[in-house]
Amino acid sequence: MATEEEKALWKAQNEHYKQLKKQCVGFVCAECGGEFIVRWNGDSNDWEAICCWDRQHKGAKKRLTPTEAYHQGYALPLPVVERIEKRERRKGK
Ligand SMILES: [Zn+2]
Repeated sequence: MATEEEKALWKAQNEHYKQLKKQCVGFVCAECGGEFIVRWNGDSNDWEAICCWDRQHKGAKKRLTPTEAYHQGYALPLPVVERIEKRERRKGK
């Protein structure tokens, strides 16, 4: 049987997990732009979001939308580029 304390801890960890998962959707690694993964950290006994390329990477930045990435000159799949250019043309740019 789990004690009330254990149940409270699990609930807090579960909330933390959900929060990290949400963060992974909107943010990427500030150092390499890589995706985040959420994994269990046995040392801190809690979930953590780490860069999928290097767990030593620190910081997060907001994920660019495809349109933002396009304007900053990133290489994007052709269908994405075509869709953006079509939309920009409609806007009269
Ligand atoms: Zn990284």
